[in-house]
Amino acid sequence: MNLTYRQIDLRLAHTFTIARSSRDIEPSIIVELTHDGITGLGEAAPSERYGESAQTVQRFLSRLDLGRFEDPFRIEEITSYVDLAEPGNTSAKAAVDIALHDWVGKKLRVPLWKHWGLNRERTLPTSFTIGIASPEVIEKKVREAEPYSILKVKVGVPGDRQTIAAIRGITDKKIRVDANEGWKSKEEARDAILWLEEQGVEFVEQPLPATDLDGTKWLREQVHIPIIADENIGRLADLPRLRDAFDGINIKLMKSTGLREAMGMIRAAKGMNMKIMLGCMIETSIGISAAAQLSPLADYADLDGNILITNDPFEGVKVVGGKLVLNEHPGLGVELKGGSSAR
Ligand code: MG
Repeated sequence: MNLTYRQIDLRLAHTFTIARSSRDIEPSIIVELTHDGITGLGEAAPSERYGESAQTVQRFLSRLDLGRFEDPFRIEEITSYVDLAEPGNTSAKAAVDIALHDWVGKKLRVPLWKHWGLNRERTLPTSFTIGIASPEVIEKKVREAEPYSILKVKVGVPGDRQTIAAIRGITDKKIRVDANEGWKSKEEARDAILWLEEQGVEFVEQPLPATDLDGTKWLREQVHIPIIADENIGRLADLPRLRDAFDGINIKLMKSTGLREAMGMIRAAKGMNMKIMLGCMIETSIGISAAAQLSPLADYADLDGNILITNDPFEGVKVVGGKLVLNEHPGLGVELKGGSSAR
Protein backbone atom coordinates (compact mmCIF):
# COMPACT_ATOMS: atom_id res chain seq x y z
CA MET A 1 0.00 0.00 0.00
CA ASN A 2 1.09 3.54 -0.69
CA LEU A 3 1.03 6.47 1.74
CA THR A 4 1.20 10.12 0.66
CA TYR A 5 0.71 13.28 2.72
CA ARG A 6 0.52 17.03 2.37
CA GLN A 7 0.30 19.96 4.76
CA ILE A 8 -2.56 22.42 4.71
CA ASP A 9 -2.90 25.49 6.93
CA LEU A 10 -6.27 25.80 8.60
CA ARG A 11 -7.47 29.37 9.10
CA LEU A 12 -9.39 30.05 12.30
CA ALA A 13 -12.50 32.21 12.06
CA HIS A 14 -11.35 33.99 15.25
CA THR A 15 -7.99 34.17 16.99
CA PHE A 16 -8.21 31.14 19.29
CA THR A 17 -6.95 31.76 22.81
CA ILE A 18 -6.76 29.24 25.65
CA ALA A 19 -5.00 29.42 29.01
CA ARG A 20 -1.55 28.63 27.51
CA SER A 21 -1.56 29.89 23.90
CA SER A 22 -3.13 32.01 21.15
CA ARG A 23 -3.22 31.38 17.39
CA ASP A 24 -4.83 32.25 14.00
CA ILE A 25 -3.56 29.38 11.83
CA GLU A 26 -3.15 25.69 12.63
CA PRO A 27 -1.30 23.23 10.40
CA SER A 28 -2.88 19.91 9.45
CA ILE A 29 -1.33 17.01 7.58
CA ILE A 30 -3.71 15.21 5.22
CA VAL A 31 -2.83 11.58 4.55
CA GLU A 32 -3.92 9.37 1.64
CA LEU A 33 -3.43 5.62 1.88
CA THR A 34 -4.01 3.92 -1.47
CA HIS A 35 -4.31 0.20 -2.18
CA ASP A 36 -6.30 -1.79 -4.69
CA GLY A 37 -7.69 1.38 -6.32
CA ILE A 38 -9.20 2.67 -3.06
CA THR A 39 -7.91 5.66 -1.10
CA GLY A 40 -8.41 5.99 2.65
CA LEU A 41 -8.17 9.50 4.09
CA GLY A 42 -6.47 10.39 7.35
CA GLU A 43 -5.38 13.50 9.17
CA ALA A 44 -2.81 14.56 11.76
CA ALA A 45 -3.48 17.73 13.75
CA PRO A 46 -0.24 18.09 15.74
CA SER A 47 -0.21 19.82 19.13
CA GLU A 48 2.86 21.49 20.63
CA ARG A 49 1.53 20.56 24.07
CA TYR A 50 2.31 16.94 23.16
CA GLY A 51 5.63 17.65 21.43
CA GLU A 52 4.43 17.56 17.82
CA SER A 53 4.52 19.98 14.90
CA ALA A 54 3.81 19.83 11.16
CA GLN A 55 7.52 19.03 10.72
CA THR A 56 7.63 16.16 13.21
CA VAL A 57 4.52 14.60 11.65
CA GLN A 58 5.98 14.70 8.15
CA ARG A 59 9.32 13.38 9.34
CA PHE A 60 7.61 10.50 11.16
CA LEU A 61 5.45 9.61 8.14
CA SER A 62 8.45 9.81 5.77
CA ARG A 63 10.25 7.13 7.80
CA LEU A 64 7.40 4.61 7.65
CA ASP A 65 7.53 1.79 5.14
CA LEU A 66 3.93 0.74 4.64
CA GLY A 67 4.91 -0.88 1.35
CA ARG A 68 5.83 -3.94 3.43
CA PHE A 69 2.12 -4.55 4.13
CA GLU A 70 -0.12 -6.00 1.47
CA ASP A 71 -3.46 -6.08 3.26
CA PRO A 72 -4.98 -2.93 4.88
CA PHE A 73 -7.49 -5.16 6.72
CA ARG A 74 -4.61 -6.13 9.04
CA ILE A 75 -5.02 -2.92 11.02
CA GLU A 76 -3.72 -4.53 14.21
CA GLU A 77 -0.37 -5.47 12.66
CA ILE A 78 0.02 -2.22 10.77
CA THR A 79 -0.80 0.08 13.70
CA SER A 80 1.52 -1.96 15.95
CA TYR A 81 4.34 -1.42 13.45
CA VAL A 82 3.55 2.30 13.27
CA ASP A 83 3.34 2.62 17.06
CA LEU A 84 6.69 0.92 17.61
CA ALA A 85 8.47 3.01 14.95
CA GLU A 86 9.13 5.82 17.48
CA PRO A 87 7.61 6.87 20.82
CA GLY A 88 5.20 9.83 20.91
CA ASN A 89 4.09 11.18 17.51
CA THR A 90 0.49 10.38 18.45
CA SER A 91 -1.21 12.57 15.83
CA ALA A 92 1.01 11.18 13.05
CA LYS A 93 0.07 7.67 14.19
CA ALA A 94 -3.61 8.68 14.29
CA ALA A 95 -3.42 9.83 10.65
CA VAL A 96 -2.40 6.33 9.53
CA ASP A 97 -4.99 4.64 11.77
CA ILE A 98 -7.80 6.88 10.46
CA ALA A 99 -6.78 6.30 6.82
CA LEU A 100 -6.73 2.52 7.37
CA HIS A 101 -10.22 2.56 8.88
CA ASP A 102 -11.53 4.75 6.04
CA TRP A 103 -9.99 2.36 3.51
CA VAL A 104 -11.60 -0.69 5.13
CA GLY A 105 -15.02 1.01 5.27
CA LYS A 106 -14.75 2.01 1.61
CA LYS A 107 -13.61 -1.46 0.60
CA LEU A 108 -16.57 -3.03 2.45
CA ARG A 109 -18.86 -0.19 1.28
CA VAL A 110 -20.11 0.37 4.80
CA PRO A 111 -19.92 3.39 7.14
CA LEU A 112 -17.64 2.80 10.12
CA TRP A 113 -20.40 3.42 12.67
CA LYS A 114 -22.42 0.66 11.02
CA HIS A 115 -19.40 -1.63 10.71
CA TRP A 116 -18.95 -1.27 14.49
CA GLY A 117 -22.58 -2.07 15.25
CA LEU A 118 -23.52 1.44 16.41
CA ASN A 119 -26.80 3.31 16.09
CA ARG A 120 -26.35 6.66 14.36
CA GLU A 121 -29.53 7.98 16.01
CA ARG A 122 -27.46 7.97 19.22
CA THR A 123 -24.99 10.65 18.19
CA LEU A 124 -24.77 13.58 20.60
CA PRO A 125 -25.16 17.33 20.40
CA THR A 126 -21.71 18.89 20.11
CA SER A 127 -20.59 21.81 22.18
CA PHE A 128 -19.25 24.91 20.45
CA THR A 129 -16.02 26.31 21.87
CA ILE A 130 -15.69 29.92 22.98
CA GLY A 131 -12.01 30.86 23.39
CA ILE A 132 -10.69 33.42 25.84
CA ALA A 133 -11.48 36.99 24.68
CA SER A 134 -12.76 40.37 25.85
CA PRO A 135 -16.42 40.50 26.99
CA GLU A 136 -17.34 42.33 23.73
CA VAL A 137 -15.82 39.59 21.54
CA ILE A 138 -17.31 36.88 23.77
CA GLU A 139 -20.72 38.42 23.20
CA LYS A 140 -20.19 38.31 19.43
CA LYS A 141 -19.05 34.67 19.58
CA VAL A 142 -22.02 33.63 21.69
CA ARG A 143 -24.35 35.14 19.08
CA GLU A 144 -22.49 33.27 16.31
CA ALA A 145 -22.92 30.06 18.32
CA GLU A 146 -26.69 30.37 17.95
CA PRO A 147 -27.05 26.98 16.12
CA TYR A 148 -25.35 25.12 18.97
CA SER A 149 -27.11 24.10 22.17
CA ILE A 150 -24.03 23.75 24.39
CA LEU A 151 -21.16 26.19 24.88
CA LYS A 152 -17.69 25.09 25.95
CA VAL A 153 -15.97 28.07 27.47
CA LYS A 154 -12.22 28.36 27.89
CA VAL A 155 -11.30 29.58 31.37
CA GLY A 156 -8.28 29.41 33.68
CA VAL A 157 -7.18 33.06 33.42
CA PRO A 158 -7.97 36.22 35.40
CA GLY A 159 -11.29 37.51 34.05
CA ASP A 160 -13.09 34.16 34.03
CA ARG A 161 -15.98 35.51 36.08
CA GLN A 162 -16.52 38.46 33.71
CA THR A 163 -16.51 35.99 30.77
CA ILE A 164 -19.15 33.73 32.32
CA ALA A 165 -21.19 36.73 33.47
CA ALA A 166 -21.09 38.16 29.91
CA ILE A 167 -22.34 34.84 28.51
CA ARG A 168 -25.01 34.42 31.16
CA GLY A 169 -26.19 37.96 30.32
CA ILE A 170 -27.07 36.73 26.80
CA THR A 171 -28.03 33.08 27.07
CA ASP A 172 -29.07 30.35 29.49
CA LYS A 173 -27.61 27.60 27.28
CA LYS A 174 -25.74 24.72 28.89
CA ILE A 175 -22.13 25.74 29.66
CA ARG A 176 -19.11 23.47 30.09
CA VAL A 177 -15.75 24.97 31.00
CA ASP A 178 -12.17 24.01 30.16
CA ALA A 179 -9.36 25.45 32.28
CA ASN A 180 -6.56 23.82 30.22
CA GLU A 181 -4.42 23.42 33.40
CA GLY A 182 -4.77 27.17 33.96
CA TRP A 183 -5.53 27.33 37.69
CA LYS A 184 -2.26 27.31 39.56
CA SER A 185 -3.39 25.99 42.94
CA LYS A 186 -6.06 23.59 44.09
CA GLU A 187 -7.57 26.27 46.33
CA GLU A 188 -7.84 28.71 43.42
CA ALA A 189 -9.48 25.97 41.34
CA ARG A 190 -11.90 25.09 44.16
CA ASP A 191 -13.05 28.68 44.62
CA ALA A 192 -13.48 29.13 40.86
CA ILE A 193 -15.43 25.87 40.43
CA LEU A 194 -17.74 26.52 43.40
CA TRP A 195 -18.61 29.87 41.79
CA LEU A 196 -19.04 28.23 38.36
CA GLU A 197 -21.42 25.68 39.87
CA GLU A 198 -23.68 28.57 40.91
CA GLN A 199 -23.73 29.70 37.26
CA GLY A 200 -25.10 26.32 36.19
CA VAL A 201 -21.90 24.98 34.64
CA GLU A 202 -22.26 21.27 33.80
CA PHE A 203 -18.65 20.10 34.21
CA VAL A 204 -15.06 21.31 34.27
CA GLU A 205 -12.23 20.02 32.13
CA GLN A 206 -8.61 19.79 33.34
CA PRO A 207 -8.64 22.33 36.19
CA LEU A 208 -5.03 21.76 37.34
CA PRO A 209 -1.71 20.97 35.67
CA ALA A 210 -1.42 17.33 34.57
CA THR A 211 1.45 16.92 37.03
CA ASP A 212 -0.86 17.70 39.98
CA LEU A 213 -2.86 14.51 40.25
CA ASP A 214 -2.91 14.66 44.07
CA GLY A 215 -4.30 18.20 43.92
CA THR A 216 -6.98 17.05 41.50
CA LYS A 217 -7.96 14.18 43.83
CA TRP A 218 -8.35 16.70 46.67
CA LEU A 219 -10.30 19.06 44.41
CA ARG A 220 -12.73 16.36 43.35
CA GLU A 221 -13.80 15.96 47.01
CA GLN A 222 -14.40 19.71 47.34
CA VAL A 223 -16.69 20.32 44.35
CA HIS A 224 -19.97 18.86 43.09
CA ILE A 225 -19.76 18.89 39.28
CA PRO A 226 -17.80 16.27 37.30
CA ILE A 227 -14.10 16.84 36.58
CA ILE A 228 -13.00 15.57 33.19
CA ALA A 229 -9.36 14.80 32.31
CA ASP A 230 -7.89 16.13 29.07
CA GLU A 231 -4.18 16.95 29.34
CA ASN A 232 -3.93 14.06 31.85
CA ILE A 233 -5.17 11.44 29.38
CA GLY A 234 -3.48 10.56 26.15
CA ARG A 235 -3.62 6.83 25.68
CA LEU A 236 -5.07 3.73 27.27
CA ALA A 237 -2.06 3.26 29.57
CA ASP A 238 -2.74 6.66 31.20
CA LEU A 239 -6.21 5.66 32.32
CA PRO A 240 -5.85 3.50 35.48
CA ARG A 241 -4.10 6.16 37.57
CA LEU A 242 -6.83 8.72 36.85
CA ARG A 243 -9.62 6.74 38.44
CA ASP A 244 -9.65 8.57 41.81
CA ALA A 245 -8.91 12.03 40.45
CA PHE A 246 -11.41 12.39 37.60
CA ASP A 247 -15.02 11.54 36.80
CA GLY A 248 -14.34 11.10 33.10
CA ILE A 249 -11.86 11.42 30.25
CA ASN A 250 -11.70 13.54 27.10
CA ILE A 251 -10.57 11.18 24.33
CA LYS A 252 -9.04 12.84 21.29
CA LEU A 253 -7.88 10.76 18.34
CA MET A 254 -4.80 12.96 17.97
CA LYS A 255 -3.67 11.91 21.47
CA SER A 256 -4.89 8.31 21.43
CA THR A 257 -3.08 7.36 18.17
CA GLY A 258 -6.43 6.98 16.43
CA LEU A 259 -9.71 5.09 16.40
CA ARG A 260 -8.44 1.65 17.36
CA GLU A 261 -6.98 2.71 20.70
CA ALA A 262 -9.82 5.18 21.31
CA MET A 263 -12.29 2.30 21.13
CA GLY A 264 -10.23 0.43 23.74
CA MET A 265 -10.18 3.50 25.98
CA ILE A 266 -13.96 3.85 25.76
CA ARG A 267 -14.45 0.22 26.81
CA ALA A 268 -11.93 0.47 29.65
CA ALA A 269 -13.28 3.78 30.99
CA LYS A 270 -16.84 2.46 30.92
CA GLY A 271 -15.61 -0.53 32.90
CA MET A 272 -14.25 1.90 35.49
CA ASN A 273 -17.58 3.77 35.57
CA MET A 274 -16.00 6.90 34.10
CA LYS A 275 -17.69 9.32 31.70
CA ILE A 276 -16.58 9.50 28.07
CA MET A 277 -16.08 12.79 26.29
CA LEU A 278 -14.96 12.92 22.66
CA GLY A 279 -12.86 15.98 21.89
CA CYS A 280 -10.70 17.26 19.06
CA MET A 281 -7.96 19.64 18.03
CA ILE A 282 -8.42 22.21 15.25
CA GLU A 283 -9.05 19.68 12.44
CA THR A 284 -10.76 19.32 9.08
CA SER A 285 -13.86 17.20 8.52
CA ILE A 286 -11.59 14.14 8.19
CA GLY A 287 -10.51 14.08 11.84
CA ILE A 288 -13.88 15.26 13.11
CA SER A 289 -15.86 12.71 11.06
CA ALA A 290 -13.54 9.97 12.34
CA ALA A 291 -14.18 10.87 15.98
CA ALA A 292 -17.90 11.32 15.31
CA GLN A 293 -18.14 7.66 14.23
CA LEU A 294 -17.57 6.81 17.93
CA SER A 295 -19.99 9.39 19.30
CA PRO A 296 -22.91 6.96 19.86
CA LEU A 297 -20.67 5.47 22.60
CA ALA A 298 -19.89 8.75 24.39
CA ASP A 299 -21.52 10.87 27.09
CA TYR A 300 -20.31 14.25 25.82
CA ALA A 301 -19.13 15.46 22.42
CA ASP A 302 -16.92 18.46 21.73
CA LEU A 303 -16.35 17.93 18.01
CA ASP A 304 -16.31 21.44 16.61
CA GLY A 305 -12.74 21.76 15.28
CA ASN A 306 -13.93 21.90 11.67
CA ILE A 307 -16.59 24.50 12.51
CA LEU A 308 -14.00 26.90 13.95
CA ILE A 309 -12.08 27.12 10.63
CA THR A 310 -12.95 28.91 7.38
CA ASN A 311 -11.13 26.73 4.81
CA ASP A 312 -12.08 23.11 5.45
CA PRO A 313 -11.53 21.35 2.08
CA PHE A 314 -13.73 18.42 3.14
CA GLU A 315 -17.23 17.64 4.31
CA GLY A 316 -18.52 14.67 6.25
CA VAL A 317 -20.34 14.63 9.56
CA LYS A 318 -22.76 17.56 9.80
CA VAL A 319 -24.23 19.43 12.73
CA VAL A 320 -28.00 19.78 12.39
CA GLY A 321 -29.98 21.46 15.15
CA GLY A 322 -26.82 21.31 17.27
CA LYS A 323 -26.56 17.52 16.93
CA LEU A 324 -23.91 15.49 15.08
CA VAL A 325 -25.40 13.75 12.05
CA LEU A 326 -23.50 10.84 10.52
CA ASN A 327 -24.14 9.96 6.88
CA GLU A 328 -24.56 6.60 5.12
CA HIS A 329 -21.41 6.94 2.98
CA PRO A 330 -18.73 4.28 3.40
CA GLY A 331 -15.76 4.65 5.72
CA LEU A 332 -15.60 8.07 7.36
CA GLY A 333 -18.24 9.40 4.96
CA VAL A 334 -15.91 12.24 3.93
CA GLU A 335 -15.75 13.88 0.51
CA LEU A 336 -14.01 16.88 -0.96
CA LYS A 337 -16.29 19.91 -0.70
CA GLY A 338 -18.23 20.72 -3.84
CA GLY A 339 -19.39 17.17 -4.48
CA SER A 340 -16.34 15.66 -6.15
CA SER A 341 -15.59 12.37 -4.55
CA ALA A 342 -12.49 11.98 -2.43
CA ARG A 343 -12.22 8.48 -3.89
MG1 MG B 1 -9.47 20.47 26.85
